[in-house]
Amino acid sequence: MTYSNGVAALLPTTLSFVGGEFVVLLGPSGAGKSTLLRCLNGLVKPTAGKIVSVEHGDICQKASLRAHRRRTGMVFQQHHLIGRQSVLSNVLMGRLGYCSSLGSLMPWATSDKHLALRVLDRVGLLDRALQRADQLSGGQQQRVGIARALVQEPTLLLADEPVASLDPATAERLLGLLRDICKSDGLTAVISLHQVEFAKQFADRIVGLHGGQVVFDGAPTALTQTEVQQIYATTSPRPERIADAHVPPATVTQ
Ligand code: ADP
Repeated sequence: MTYSNGVAALLPTTLSFVGGEFVVLLGPSGAGKSTLLRCLNGLVKPTAGKIVSVEHGDICQKASLRAHRRRTGMVFQQHHLIGRQSVLSNVLMGRLGYCSSLGSLMPWATSDKHLALRVLDRVGLLDRALQRADQLSGGQQQRVGIARALVQEPTLLLADEPVASLDPATAERLLGLLRDICKSDGLTAVISLHQVEFAKQFADRIVGLHGGQVVFDGAPTALTQTEVQQIYATTSPRPERIADAHVPPATVTQ
């Protein structure tokens, strides 16, 4: 994946994510974690190669992308909530992918509201449903972000540094909650983190990126200090510009 300014954010990458797997992406800033996540939900289109969903096919095709996005929940570091709206309204935004453009102007269906209340209950915020989102703590706001992703009834959950702005205890609780929900619903999760210890604690599999390349892919028990040093090495193997790279097309396979 090369951005229009010539930065090769991901070099040739072949990855398969198995259904129900809880995968953590590790890597220093600029390693390509966000780019990989953005590729996986079609927010950016890889400049070479393709992304194939077992459920929906090649997501570079418009119809497949729409179907894939509807079932792909995304959790962001900064929550991206509408602060002056209620917690419930924010969660319901996750249903927009199921509405036609005209339907999105209509009041929410009772079934959508019931579903939103059920997911709020799962993240422990049912009693806050009618409160303004900006009145919640950072950890609670992130739980609203998770509820908004879950109300999509996703099969794939992507999270870009979901605990980066939380204190360690809140971050641990939130990751525990996320993992429990993914496991009980059989969701596939791909989550970028900065904390190696959390990756070891929660992941089924760790993918280590460095300079746009996969430098580790394995079980948490296989991640030794040597591999951690390789992931966080200060020298970057990434050529700054694709013109310098001389590489074959990138492929990311889901
Ligand atoms: P990470 O999430 O691991 O911090 P990113 O995927 O954000 O890494 O960035 C990988 C590389 O791509 C970096 O060199 C970054 O500067 C570059 N990059 C990220 N987003 C853009 C963009 N929208 N336009 C140009 N370059 C970008």
